[in-house]
Amino acid sequence: MNLSCPIGKPAWLAACALVLAGTQEAHAEPPRPERMPIGPDQASFRPRPLLGVDGTAIAAPGVLPAPPPSRLIFLNDCKPGGCQIYVGSEDSRRNRSTVARRTSLVPEFPYTQGIWDATLACVRETYARFDIQVTDVDPCPDPNAGCTTPHWEVVVAGEPASISYPNPAGGVSPFDFRDCSIIENSITYAFAEVLGSSVDRLCWTIAQETAHSFGLDHELLGADPMTYLSSPSKKRFQDVLADCGEDTVRDCYCRTKQNSVQEILAIFGAAPPSPPTVDVTAPVSGTAVEPGFVVAADIEDTQGIAQVDLIVDGQVTLTLNSPPFAFNAPPSLPPGGHHVEIRATDLLGAVGSDTVDVLIGEPCDRPGDCSSLGETYTCVGGRCVPGPGAPGGLGEPCNGAIECVSGLCATKDMENHCAEPCSPGSDQCPGGFQCLDDGAGSGLCWPGTTGCLGCSTHAGAAGATPIVPIGAGLVIGAILIRRRRRVPAPRKTP
Ligand SMILES: [Zn+2]
Repeated sequence: MNLSCPIGKPAWLAACALVLAGTQEAHAEPPRPERMPIGPDQASFRPRPLLGVDGTAIAAPGVLPAPPPSRLIFLNDCKPGGCQIYVGSEDSRRNRSTVARRTSLVPEFPYTQGIWDATLACVRETYARFDIQVTDVDPCPDPNAGCTTPHWEVVVAGEPASISYPNPAGGVSPFDFRDCSIIENSITYAFAEVLGSSVDRLCWTIAQETAHSFGLDHELLGADPMTYLSSPSKKRFQDVLADCGEDTVRDCYCRTKQNSVQEILAIFGAAPPSPPTVDVTAPVSGTAVEPGFVVAADIEDTQGIAQVDLIVDGQVTLTLNSPPFAFNAPPSLPPGGHHVEIRATDLLGAVGSDTVDVLIGEPCDRPGDCSSLGETYTCVGGRCVPGPGAPGGLGEPCNGAIECVSGLCATKDMENHCAEPCSPGSDQCPGGFQCLDDGAGSGLCWPGTTGCLGCSTHAGAAGATPIVPIGAGLVIGAILIRRRRRVPAPRKTP
């Protein structure tokens, strides 16, 4: 890396371009974004935002911030037929560029539409927190039509030679070193043929070149697109007061240090909040599922997703920080209904979520609905479960939870039976069973028609069903182990 100053330019122009040493082939490192100065006639002046010691912009008293000259960034893939660029005062509306050395036709973006779309999405995400739009639709398709839509344009195509730019570079932007002023209607370049097909690298360069036109300097902060540092590959503007520099610390142009987020916020302001959109695609709400079922969701957000939580029955059970956002529900979930939520949090803390309700077990209204599963199946609380006569089925004798399909082996009056959860007081249990309160707020289907499993405290309540006295020490209300044993479903043979 060296700093070269073209000969014959006035010194006050600070006409220095940061030039890459050697060529792309000579370096293992990726080509780095580049910039070059702009002449004084093209430089528009705008006072820098005042930054507090923490880098937060502080408005001058009584001074309203001027609206930005444009809120539109146009990424040009030069299709079809290439980008016609003319030399002249910087003006994206007329395809005039101070960077191009002669009239040029930049060839089309050389990679797939998928890479283009991903690059556009990445740049949108990078700028999403600011009140600025990113498009790939040309606001001024005819440079001779007198188009008056101001915009910042990035030519994402070609190589330096495409515009007769003399230095090896991954990208280039006009920049005024004297005051870091905003350069309206600039045309910047992200040389796709030099950068390669990496979406992260294209996105990084596009973000950096556009922000140079907003007056931003290079930062020694790898996570920020204003950096030359290659790691990490994914870069977003960081709300951090950073040192300036390329490989080593140097004084910033026009400032002491730089906070890219606050600099850009001071120009454009913040975008309205946009919580993530979440759509749980699996399982379908209301359906029956297996233990450990897959939970998948489509999640979209303009800011980028920071975190996705799987919440089952109100409990956060798993958290992911990067796609794919697919989970397995805990295999220990007992049979019955479950409320499943996917909650996404974006990089700015906005939260979106979607929920589904599922049953572990086939859904049913009555025991007859379960006959297709086997003649011993019955219906409990809206789901089909193995019933009396099935191994480990409801009401079968047991000596431990592992023997029961439900994972519930209950004891009462010296008898042990496989049980199924139910809502106390409901009629969710099949004929010959009743839903007994287990004394802990839950219910269990239990053989018989009267009694209260462990709920002696209910005795004497007005209107209560007479309670069968339960000898102390004979009751284990609920079951300690909730482990589900897989029992092959008995099938009718035709
Ligand atoms: Zn740069």
